[in-house]
Amino acid sequence: MLNQLTISELAAKLARREVSARAVTQACLDQIARVDGKIHAFISYDAADALAQADTADKALAQGGRSDQSLLGIPIAIKDVLAVKNQPLNCASKILGNFRSPYDATAIEKLKAAGAIVFGRLNMDEFAMGSSTENSAFGLTRNPWDTTRIPGGSSGGSAAAVAADECIASLGSDTGGSIRQPAALCGCVGLKPTYGRISRYGLVAFASSLDQIGPFTKDVRDAATLLSVMSGVDPRDSTSVPEPVPDYTAALTGDIRGLKLGLPKEYMIGGLDAEVKAAVDAAVRQYEKLGAEIVEITLPHTDYAVATYYIIATAEASANLARFDGIRYGARVDSNDPIELYARTRGAGFGAEVKRRIILGTYVLSSGYHDAYYLQAQKVRTLIRNDFLKAFETVDAIVTPTTPTAAFKAGEKSGDPLQMYLSDIFTISCNLAGVCGISVPCGFTKNPKLPIGLQLLGKPFGEAVLLKIAHAYEQATAWHQEKAVL
Ligand code: GLN
Repeated sequence: MLNQLTISELAAKLARREVSARAVTQACLDQIARVDGKIHAFISYDAADALAQADTADKALAQGGRSDQSLLGIPIAIKDVLAVKNQPLNCASKILGNFRSPYDATAIEKLKAAGAIVFGRLNMDEFAMGSSTENSAFGLTRNPWDTTRIPGGSSGGSAAAVAADECIASLGSDTGGSIRQPAALCGCVGLKPTYGRISRYGLVAFASSLDQIGPFTKDVRDAATLLSVMSGVDPRDSTSVPEPVPDYTAALTGDIRGLKLGLPKEYMIGGLDAEVKAAVDAAVRQYEKLGAEIVEITLPHTDYAVATYYIIATAEASANLARFDGIRYGARVDSNDPIELYARTRGAGFGAEVKRRIILGTYVLSSGYHDAYYLQAQKVRTLIRNDFLKAFETVDAIVTPTTPTAAFKAGEKSGDPLQMYLSDIFTISCNLAGVCGISVPCGFTKNPKLPIGLQLLGKPFGEAVLLKIAHAYEQATAWHQEKAVL
Protein backbone atom coordinates (compact mmCIF):
# COMPACT_ATOMS: atom_id res chain seq x y z
CA MET A 1 0.00 0.00 0.00
CA LEU A 2 1.30 3.43 -0.96
CA ASN A 3 0.85 4.96 2.50
CA GLN A 4 3.24 2.33 3.94
CA LEU A 5 6.16 3.39 1.76
CA THR A 6 9.04 5.69 2.66
CA ILE A 7 9.85 9.07 1.14
CA SER A 8 12.72 7.59 -0.88
CA GLU A 9 10.58 4.73 -2.21
CA LEU A 10 7.74 7.07 -3.15
CA ALA A 11 10.01 9.73 -4.65
CA ALA A 12 11.36 7.12 -7.08
CA LYS A 13 7.86 5.94 -8.03
CA LEU A 14 6.56 9.50 -8.38
CA ALA A 15 9.52 10.52 -10.56
CA ARG A 16 8.91 7.52 -12.86
CA ARG A 17 5.22 8.51 -12.84
CA GLU A 18 4.28 5.00 -11.71
CA VAL A 19 2.05 6.59 -9.08
CA SER A 20 0.50 10.02 -8.68
CA ALA A 21 0.75 12.35 -5.71
CA ARG A 22 -3.05 12.25 -5.60
CA ALA A 23 -3.01 8.46 -5.20
CA VAL A 24 -0.40 8.67 -2.41
CA THR A 25 -2.37 11.38 -0.62
CA GLN A 26 -5.64 9.49 -1.04
CA ALA A 27 -3.99 6.37 0.42
CA CYS A 28 -3.02 8.37 3.53
CA LEU A 29 -6.53 9.87 3.80
CA ASP A 30 -8.08 6.40 3.44
CA GLN A 31 -5.85 5.06 6.18
CA ILE A 32 -6.82 7.99 8.44
CA ALA A 33 -10.50 7.23 7.77
CA ARG A 34 -9.88 3.55 8.58
CA VAL A 35 -7.74 3.81 11.74
CA ASP A 36 -7.76 7.30 13.24
CA GLY A 37 -10.97 6.59 15.16
CA LYS A 38 -8.84 4.15 17.19
CA ILE A 39 -5.61 6.18 17.32
CA HIS A 40 -6.71 9.83 17.28
CA ALA A 41 -3.35 11.08 16.04
CA PHE A 42 -5.01 13.98 14.21
CA ILE A 43 -6.79 16.88 15.87
CA SER A 44 -8.01 17.92 12.43
CA TYR A 45 -7.13 17.72 8.75
CA ASP A 46 -8.40 19.24 5.54
CA ALA A 47 -8.73 16.45 2.95
CA ALA A 48 -9.77 18.77 0.11
CA ASP A 49 -6.77 21.03 0.67
CA ALA A 50 -4.38 18.02 0.82
CA LEU A 51 -5.76 16.70 -2.49
CA ALA A 52 -5.51 20.16 -4.07
CA GLN A 53 -1.84 20.31 -3.07
CA ALA A 54 -1.42 16.80 -4.52
CA ASP A 55 -2.85 17.96 -7.85
CA THR A 56 -0.39 20.86 -7.91
CA ALA A 57 2.43 18.38 -7.24
CA ASP A 58 1.18 16.12 -10.03
CA LYS A 59 1.32 19.04 -12.47
CA ALA A 60 4.93 19.72 -11.47
CA LEU A 61 5.76 16.01 -11.77
CA ALA A 62 4.25 15.97 -15.26
CA GLN A 63 6.75 18.67 -16.20
CA GLY A 64 9.60 16.55 -14.89
CA GLY A 65 9.86 18.03 -11.38
CA ARG A 66 12.89 19.96 -10.16
CA SER A 67 16.05 18.53 -8.66
CA ASP A 68 15.69 20.72 -5.55
CA GLN A 69 12.22 19.32 -4.89
CA SER A 70 13.13 16.19 -2.97
CA LEU A 71 9.67 16.03 -1.35
CA LEU A 72 7.54 16.61 -4.45
CA GLY A 73 4.19 14.87 -3.88
CA ILE A 74 5.02 13.51 -0.39
CA PRO A 75 2.28 13.98 2.28
CA ILE A 76 3.77 15.20 5.57
CA ALA A 77 1.65 15.86 8.67
CA ILE A 78 2.43 18.52 11.28
CA LYS A 79 2.38 18.75 15.07
CA ASP A 80 -0.12 21.35 16.29
CA VAL A 81 2.69 23.62 17.53
CA LEU A 82 4.01 24.72 14.11
CA ALA A 83 2.49 27.56 12.15
CA VAL A 84 1.04 26.56 8.76
CA LYS A 85 -0.57 29.45 6.91
CA ASN A 86 -4.39 29.49 7.10
CA GLN A 87 -4.49 26.33 9.21
CA PRO A 88 -5.65 26.05 12.84
CA LEU A 89 -2.88 26.44 15.43
CA ASN A 90 -3.91 25.35 18.93
CA CYS A 91 -0.90 23.68 20.61
CA ALA A 92 -3.57 21.22 21.80
CA SER A 93 -4.81 23.93 24.16
CA LYS A 94 -8.18 25.58 24.63
CA ILE A 95 -6.57 28.99 25.06
CA LEU A 96 -5.95 29.63 21.37
CA GLY A 97 -9.68 29.30 20.59
CA ASN A 98 -10.23 29.22 16.83
CA PHE A 99 -6.94 30.89 15.95
CA ARG A 100 -5.56 30.26 12.47
CA SER A 101 -1.96 30.94 11.59
CA PRO A 102 -1.42 33.95 9.29
CA TYR A 103 2.01 32.69 8.13
CA ASP A 104 4.21 29.61 7.58
CA ALA A 105 6.98 28.58 9.96
CA THR A 106 10.36 28.60 8.19
CA ALA A 107 10.54 24.79 8.39
CA ILE A 108 7.09 24.58 6.78
CA GLU A 109 8.04 27.10 4.10
CA LYS A 110 11.03 24.88 3.27
CA LEU A 111 8.93 21.71 3.13
CA LYS A 112 6.50 23.44 0.77
CA ALA A 113 9.33 24.77 -1.41
CA ALA A 114 10.64 21.19 -1.67
CA GLY A 115 7.22 20.12 -2.97
CA ALA A 116 5.74 18.44 0.12
CA ILE A 117 2.00 18.15 0.69
CA VAL A 118 1.74 19.73 4.15
CA PHE A 119 -1.45 18.62 5.88
CA GLY A 120 -3.15 17.93 9.20
CA ARG A 121 -2.78 19.04 12.79
CA LEU A 122 -1.29 16.31 14.95
CA ASN A 123 -2.21 15.86 18.60
CA MET A 124 0.28 16.60 21.38
CA ASP A 125 0.54 17.42 25.05
CA GLU A 126 -0.73 20.97 25.60
CA PHE A 127 2.08 23.39 24.69
CA ALA A 128 4.38 20.33 24.37
CA MET A 129 4.41 19.77 28.13
CA GLY A 130 4.23 16.08 28.82
CA SER A 131 5.41 12.60 27.88
CA SER A 132 2.18 10.80 27.00
CA THR A 133 -0.08 13.13 24.95
CA GLU A 134 -2.58 12.81 27.80
CA ASN A 135 -2.29 16.56 28.51
CA SER A 136 -4.14 17.49 25.31
CA ALA A 137 -7.37 19.49 25.40
CA PHE A 138 -8.44 17.42 22.37
CA GLY A 139 -8.41 13.95 23.95
CA LEU A 140 -5.99 11.02 24.08
CA THR A 141 -3.84 9.70 21.28
CA ARG A 142 -3.33 5.94 21.50
CA ASN A 143 -0.33 3.79 20.67
CA PRO A 144 -0.86 1.92 17.37
CA TRP A 145 0.87 -1.16 18.83
CA ASP A 146 -1.54 -1.36 21.77
CA THR A 147 -4.41 1.09 21.98
CA THR A 148 -4.67 0.75 25.78
CA ARG A 149 -1.25 2.46 25.92
CA ILE A 150 0.06 5.96 25.37
CA PRO A 151 2.13 6.85 22.27
CA GLY A 152 4.61 8.92 24.30
CA GLY A 153 4.78 12.68 24.12
CA SER A 154 4.68 15.43 23.71
CA SER A 155 4.67 14.70 19.94
CA GLY A 156 2.50 11.59 20.40
CA GLY A 157 0.29 12.35 17.40
CA SER A 158 3.33 12.77 15.15
CA ALA A 159 4.76 9.39 16.18
CA ALA A 160 1.44 7.52 16.09
CA ALA A 161 0.53 8.92 12.65
CA VAL A 162 3.80 7.69 11.13
CA ALA A 163 3.63 4.32 12.93
CA ALA A 164 0.04 3.83 11.72
CA ASP A 165 0.98 4.86 8.13
CA GLU A 166 -1.49 7.76 8.17
CA CYS A 167 1.17 9.98 6.58
CA ILE A 168 4.58 9.34 5.04
CA ALA A 169 6.47 11.42 7.61
CA SER A 170 5.64 14.07 10.19
CA LEU A 171 7.17 16.96 12.09
CA GLY A 172 7.41 17.37 15.84
CA SER A 173 9.32 19.43 18.37
CA ASP A 174 11.73 18.27 21.06
CA THR A 175 12.45 20.28 24.21
CA GLY A 176 13.41 17.41 26.51
CA GLY A 177 12.69 14.32 24.44
CA SER A 178 9.38 14.98 22.74
CA ILE A 179 10.54 13.61 19.39
CA ARG A 180 12.82 10.76 20.48
CA GLN A 181 10.62 9.37 23.29
CA PRO A 182 7.38 8.98 21.26
CA ALA A 183 9.39 7.70 18.27
CA ALA A 184 10.83 5.00 20.53
CA LEU A 185 7.45 4.07 22.00
CA CYS A 186 5.74 3.91 18.58
CA GLY A 187 8.58 2.21 16.67
CA CYS A 188 9.62 4.92 14.25
CA VAL A 189 12.69 7.08 13.69
CA GLY A 190 12.78 10.45 15.47
CA LEU A 191 15.55 13.02 15.10
CA LYS A 192 16.28 16.00 17.34
CA PRO A 193 18.80 18.17 15.51
CA THR A 194 21.45 20.30 17.21
CA TYR A 195 20.11 23.50 18.77
CA GLY A 196 20.31 26.10 16.00
CA ARG A 197 20.29 23.65 13.08
CA ILE A 198 16.64 24.30 12.08
CA SER A 199 15.02 27.71 12.44
CA ARG A 200 12.44 27.90 15.22
CA TYR A 201 10.57 30.75 13.51
CA GLY A 202 6.90 29.74 13.56
CA LEU A 203 7.36 27.12 16.27
CA VAL A 204 5.29 28.19 19.29
CA ALA A 205 7.89 28.56 22.04
CA PHE A 206 7.83 26.34 25.13
CA ALA A 207 11.42 26.69 26.41
CA SER A 208 13.30 28.75 23.85
CA SER A 209 16.82 27.64 24.81
CA LEU A 210 15.88 23.95 24.44
CA ASP A 211 13.25 23.71 21.65
CA GLN A 212 14.14 22.19 18.26
CA ILE A 213 11.98 21.05 15.34
CA GLY A 214 12.64 17.60 13.90
CA PRO A 215 11.23 14.80 11.72
CA PHE A 216 9.47 11.49 12.43
CA THR A 217 10.08 8.98 9.65
CA LYS A 218 9.90 5.30 8.75
CA ASP A 219 13.65 5.03 8.24
CA VAL A 220 16.90 6.92 8.76
CA ARG A 221 17.28 7.89 5.10
CA ASP A 222 14.00 9.81 5.24
CA ALA A 223 15.15 11.61 8.39
CA ALA A 224 18.32 12.65 6.53
CA THR A 225 16.24 13.89 3.58
CA LEU A 226 13.99 16.01 5.80
CA LEU A 227 16.93 17.39 7.77
CA SER A 228 18.65 18.47 4.54
CA VAL A 229 15.48 20.31 3.48
CA MET A 230 14.76 22.06 6.80
CA SER A 231 18.25 23.03 8.04
CA GLY A 232 19.98 26.37 7.69
CA VAL A 233 20.38 29.83 9.11
CA ASP A 234 17.32 32.09 9.13
CA PRO A 235 17.38 35.85 9.74
CA ARG A 236 14.03 35.45 11.54
CA ASP A 237 15.57 33.21 14.23
CA SER A 238 18.72 34.69 15.73
CA THR A 239 19.57 31.35 17.37
CA SER A 240 19.78 29.56 14.02
CA VAL A 241 23.40 28.97 13.06
CA PRO A 242 25.14 29.59 9.71
CA GLU A 243 26.76 26.15 9.56
CA PRO A 244 26.86 24.75 6.03
CA VAL A 245 24.02 22.31 5.24
CA PRO A 246 25.34 19.13 3.63
CA ASP A 247 23.25 16.58 1.76
CA TYR A 248 22.79 14.35 4.79
CA THR A 249 21.78 11.33 2.69
CA ALA A 250 25.31 11.30 1.21
CA ALA A 251 26.62 10.29 4.65
CA LEU A 252 24.65 7.03 4.67
CA THR A 253 27.42 4.77 3.39
CA GLY A 254 26.82 1.86 5.76
CA ASP A 255 30.51 1.86 6.66
CA ILE A 256 31.15 2.69 10.31
CA ARG A 257 34.35 0.71 10.80
CA GLY A 258 36.68 2.36 13.29
CA LEU A 259 34.09 4.80 14.65
CA LYS A 260 33.99 5.00 18.42
CA LEU A 261 30.73 4.65 20.35
CA GLY A 262 30.54 5.63 24.02
CA LEU A 263 28.41 3.83 26.61
CA PRO A 264 27.74 6.17 29.55
CA LYS A 265 27.92 4.17 32.75
CA GLU A 266 25.42 6.52 34.43
CA TYR A 267 22.62 5.40 32.08
CA MET A 268 22.38 1.79 33.24
CA ILE A 269 20.12 2.78 36.13
CA GLY A 270 17.86 0.81 38.46
CA GLY A 271 14.56 1.70 36.79
CA LEU A 272 15.72 0.39 33.43
CA ASP A 273 13.40 -2.37 32.20
CA ALA A 274 15.13 -5.75 31.63
CA GLU A 275 13.81 -6.19 28.08
CA VAL A 276 14.84 -2.64 27.14
CA LYS A 277 18.31 -3.28 28.55
CA ALA A 278 18.61 -6.59 26.66
CA ALA A 279 17.61 -4.91 23.37
CA VAL A 280 20.15 -2.12 23.86
CA ASP A 281 22.88 -4.61 24.81
CA ALA A 282 22.13 -6.57 21.62
CA ALA A 283 22.32 -3.37 19.57
CA VAL A 284 25.73 -2.62 21.07
CA ARG A 285 26.94 -6.10 20.05
CA GLN A 286 25.57 -5.46 16.56
CA TYR A 287 27.64 -2.28 16.40
CA GLU A 288 30.72 -4.27 17.35
CA LYS A 289 30.00 -6.67 14.48
CA LEU A 290 29.76 -3.67 12.15
CA GLY A 291 33.27 -2.68 13.16
CA ALA A 292 32.60 0.10 15.66
CA GLU A 293 34.69 0.33 18.78
CA ILE A 294 32.72 0.45 22.04
CA VAL A 295 34.16 2.38 24.97
CA GLU A 296 32.76 3.09 28.40
CA ILE A 297 32.43 6.81 29.09
CA THR A 298 31.23 8.93 31.97
CA LEU A 299 28.71 11.78 32.00
CA PRO A 300 29.12 12.59 35.68
CA HIS A 301 26.40 15.23 36.01
CA THR A 302 23.63 13.01 34.59
CA ASP A 303 21.89 12.78 37.98
CA TYR A 304 21.14 16.50 37.94
CA ALA A 305 19.64 16.63 34.44
CA VAL A 306 15.95 16.17 35.26
CA ALA A 307 15.99 18.73 38.10
CA THR A 308 17.97 21.22 36.01
CA TYR A 309 15.59 20.78 33.08
CA TYR A 310 12.48 21.36 35.19
CA ILE A 311 13.88 24.63 36.49
CA ILE A 312 15.07 26.01 33.15
CA ALA A 313 12.14 24.72 31.06
CA THR A 314 9.50 25.97 33.49
CA ALA A 315 11.23 29.35 33.90
CA GLU A 316 11.29 29.87 30.14
CA ALA A 317 7.75 28.57 29.76
CA SER A 318 6.40 30.98 32.36
CA ALA A 319 7.81 33.88 30.33
CA ASN A 320 6.84 32.50 26.91
CA LEU A 321 3.27 31.71 27.89
CA ALA A 322 2.65 35.19 29.33
CA ARG A 323 1.53 36.25 25.84
CA PHE A 324 -1.61 34.09 26.03
CA ASP A 325 -3.77 36.57 27.88
CA GLY A 326 -6.92 36.86 25.77
CA ILE A 327 -6.07 40.32 24.45
CA ARG A 328 -4.65 39.93 20.97
CA TYR A 329 -5.69 36.45 19.90
CA GLY A 330 -7.25 33.23 21.01
CA ALA A 331 -10.07 32.59 23.43
CA ARG A 332 -11.17 35.26 25.92
CA VAL A 333 -13.27 35.16 29.07
CA ASP A 334 -14.49 38.74 29.25
CA SER A 335 -14.49 41.13 32.16
CA ASN A 336 -14.56 44.91 32.61
CA ASP A 337 -11.46 44.65 34.76
CA PRO A 338 -8.37 43.84 32.65
CA ILE A 339 -6.59 41.94 35.45
CA GLU A 340 -9.66 39.81 35.95
CA LEU A 341 -9.90 39.28 32.18
CA TYR A 342 -6.34 37.87 32.14
CA ALA A 343 -6.96 35.67 35.17
CA ARG A 344 -10.25 34.28 33.92
CA THR A 345 -8.93 33.69 30.40
CA ARG A 346 -5.81 31.91 31.62
CA GLY A 347 -7.70 30.05 34.32
CA ALA A 348 -10.18 28.65 31.80
CA GLY A 349 -7.78 28.30 28.87
CA PHE A 350 -4.79 26.42 30.31
CA GLY A 351 -4.85 22.82 31.50
CA ALA A 352 -3.51 21.58 34.85
CA GLU A 353 0.02 20.67 33.70
CA VAL A 354 0.55 23.99 31.93
CA LYS A 355 -0.59 25.84 35.06
CA ARG A 356 1.75 23.73 37.21
CA ARG A 357 4.70 24.68 34.95
CA ILE A 358 3.80 28.38 34.91
CA ILE A 359 3.56 28.43 38.71
CA LEU A 360 6.87 26.54 39.11
CA GLY A 361 8.60 28.72 36.53
CA THR A 362 7.34 31.94 38.08
CA TYR A 363 8.56 30.75 41.47
CA VAL A 364 12.11 29.86 40.34
CA LEU A 365 12.43 33.28 38.68
CA SER A 366 11.00 35.29 41.57
CA SER A 367 13.21 37.67 43.53
CA GLY A 368 14.96 35.90 46.36
CA TYR A 369 14.80 32.53 44.59
CA HIS A 370 16.25 33.41 41.19
CA ASP A 371 19.86 32.90 42.29
CA ALA A 372 19.17 29.73 44.26
CA TYR A 373 17.24 28.01 41.47
CA TYR A 374 17.47 29.56 38.01
CA LEU A 375 21.06 30.80 38.18
CA GLN A 376 22.21 27.59 39.82
CA ALA A 377 20.44 25.52 37.15
CA GLN A 378 22.19 27.50 34.42
CA LYS A 379 25.55 26.65 35.99
CA VAL A 380 24.69 22.96 36.23
CA ARG A 381 23.55 23.09 32.61
CA THR A 382 27.05 24.22 31.63
CA LEU A 383 28.54 21.29 33.57
CA ILE A 384 26.21 18.90 31.71
CA ARG A 385 27.19 20.37 28.36
CA ASN A 386 30.87 20.12 29.30
CA ASP A 387 30.39 16.41 30.15
CA PHE A 388 29.21 15.84 26.57
CA LEU A 389 31.89 17.95 24.92
CA LYS A 390 34.54 16.08 26.90
CA ALA A 391 33.06 12.69 25.93
CA PHE A 392 32.99 13.74 22.27
CA GLU A 393 36.75 14.33 22.41
CA THR A 394 37.09 10.54 22.45
CA VAL A 395 33.89 9.13 20.90
CA ASP A 396 31.94 9.81 17.70
CA ALA A 397 28.54 9.11 19.26
CA ILE A 398 26.97 8.02 22.53
CA VAL A 399 24.62 5.01 22.76
CA THR A 400 21.81 4.74 25.33
CA PRO A 401 18.26 3.46 25.65
CA THR A 402 15.79 6.18 24.54
CA THR A 403 13.39 5.41 27.39
CA PRO A 404 13.60 3.37 30.60
CA THR A 405 10.50 1.30 29.67
CA ALA A 406 8.29 0.57 26.67
CA ALA A 407 4.92 2.38 26.32
CA PHE A 408 2.96 2.54 29.55
CA LYS A 409 -0.80 2.29 30.00
CA ALA A 410 -3.01 5.34 29.53
CA GLY A 411 -3.73 6.74 32.99
CA GLU A 412 -0.80 4.95 34.62
CA LYS A 413 1.28 8.07 35.29
CA SER A 414 -1.14 10.90 34.66
CA GLY A 415 -1.79 11.41 38.38
CA ASP A 416 1.90 11.47 39.28
CA PRO A 417 3.83 14.30 37.60
CA LEU A 418 7.21 13.18 38.99
CA GLN A 419 6.87 9.66 37.51
CA MET A 420 5.88 11.27 34.22
CA TYR A 421 8.93 13.59 34.32
CA LEU A 422 11.23 10.60 34.93
CA SER A 423 10.21 8.95 31.66
CA ASP A 424 12.49 11.54 29.97
CA ILE A 425 15.52 10.71 32.04
CA PHE A 426 17.62 9.60 29.04
CA THR A 427 16.52 12.28 26.57
CA ILE A 428 16.69 15.50 28.58
CA SER A 429 20.49 15.95 28.80
CA CYS A 430 20.76 16.16 25.01
CA ASN A 431 18.63 19.33 24.98
CA LEU A 432 20.43 20.86 27.96
CA ALA A 433 23.75 20.21 26.19
CA GLY A 434 22.42 21.44 22.82
CA VAL A 435 23.74 18.36 20.98
CA CYS A 436 21.87 16.20 18.44
CA GLY A 437 20.10 12.90 19.05
CA ILE A 438 18.11 10.24 17.25
CA SER A 439 15.96 7.28 18.26
CA VAL A 440 15.80 4.20 16.03
CA PRO A 441 13.82 0.97 16.56
CA CYS A 442 15.96 -1.74 18.23
CA GLY A 443 13.53 -4.48 19.20
CA PHE A 444 10.26 -5.31 20.93
CA THR A 445 9.07 -6.42 24.32
CA LYS A 446 7.50 -9.88 24.22
CA ASN A 447 4.10 -9.72 25.84
CA PRO A 448 2.60 -7.42 24.80
CA LYS A 449 4.68 -6.68 21.70
CA LEU A 450 5.81 -3.05 22.09
CA PRO A 451 8.61 -1.19 20.30
CA ILE A 452 11.92 -0.35 22.00
CA GLY A 453 14.11 2.57 20.92
CA LEU A 454 17.88 2.98 20.76
CA GLN A 455 19.13 6.52 21.32
CA LEU A 456 22.28 7.80 19.64
CA LEU A 457 23.66 11.21 20.63
CA GLY A 458 26.04 13.14 18.39
CA LYS A 459 28.33 16.15 18.42
CA PRO A 460 26.99 19.67 17.90
CA PHE A 461 26.29 19.89 14.15
CA GLY A 462 27.46 16.28 13.83
CA GLU A 463 24.20 15.07 12.28
CA ALA A 464 25.95 13.55 9.24
CA VAL A 465 27.97 11.15 11.42
CA LEU A 466 25.00 10.53 13.73
CA LEU A 467 22.77 9.56 10.79
CA LYS A 468 25.52 7.41 9.28
CA ILE A 469 25.81 5.45 12.55
CA ALA A 470 22.02 5.11 12.94
CA HIS A 471 21.60 4.02 9.33
CA ALA A 472 24.31 1.34 9.50
CA TYR A 473 22.52 -0.29 12.45
CA GLU A 474 19.10 0.02 10.83
CA GLN A 475 20.31 -1.63 7.63
CA ALA A 476 21.76 -4.52 9.61
CA THR A 477 18.45 -5.16 11.39
CA ALA A 478 14.78 -5.49 10.39
CA TRP A 479 13.07 -3.81 13.34
CA HIS A 480 12.05 -0.73 11.36
CA GLN A 481 10.16 -2.87 8.84
CA GLU A 482 7.68 -4.27 11.36
CA LYS A 483 4.19 -2.80 11.28
CA ALA A 484 1.54 -2.43 13.96
CA VAL A 485 -1.58 -4.47 13.17
CA LEU A 486 -4.57 -2.17 13.01
N1 GLN B 1 8.39 15.48 28.56
C1 GLN B 1 9.18 16.66 28.69
C2 GLN B 1 8.34 17.75 29.32
O1 GLN B 1 7.26 17.46 29.69
C3 GLN B 1 9.73 17.07 27.36
C4 GLN B 1 8.70 17.69 26.51
C5 GLN B 1 9.23 18.16 25.18
O2 GLN B 1 10.29 17.75 24.73
N2 GLN B 1 8.49 19.08 24.58
O3 GLN B 1 8.74 18.86 29.43
